[in-house]
Amino acid sequence: MRSPAIGPGLRDPERPGGVRLPRGSVVTWDGSDRRARLPHDWALRRVRVLRRAGYKCEARFSTGERCGAPANQVDHIVRGDDHSPENLQALCVYCHGQKTAGEAAQARRPRPRRERESERHPGSL
Ligand SMILES: [Zn+2]
Repeated sequence: MRSPAIGPGLRDPERPGGVRLPRGSVVTWDGSDRRARLPHDWALRRVRVLRRAGYKCEARFSTGERCGAPANQVDHIVRGDDHSPENLQALCVYCHGQKTAGEAAQARRPRPRRERESERHPGSL
């Protein structure tokens, strides 16, 4: 007996690694990601992230407990232009607000100076 052949039509439509960057996109770091571009298929990615999370908030409280409130927001775990599913999470309005507020506060706060690093930049002047 032969096993039924799997046709190309049965392949996973998610196609991992198929992320395309818009041509000629320039990433500028002006301290704000307000103008960060969203990919043309953002709506689709958004839905996938929400679906993946079961439409429940994926934020964790400091106790380690998952929020679990109904989520309708999709947040970039690491701010920037990484729109891959790994960098996206579903959040409820409350947690998204909390995170955004925290990020804004962090951006305003002058960076604490790091402990002296033993590592030296070989090319430093
Ligand atoms: Zn939440």
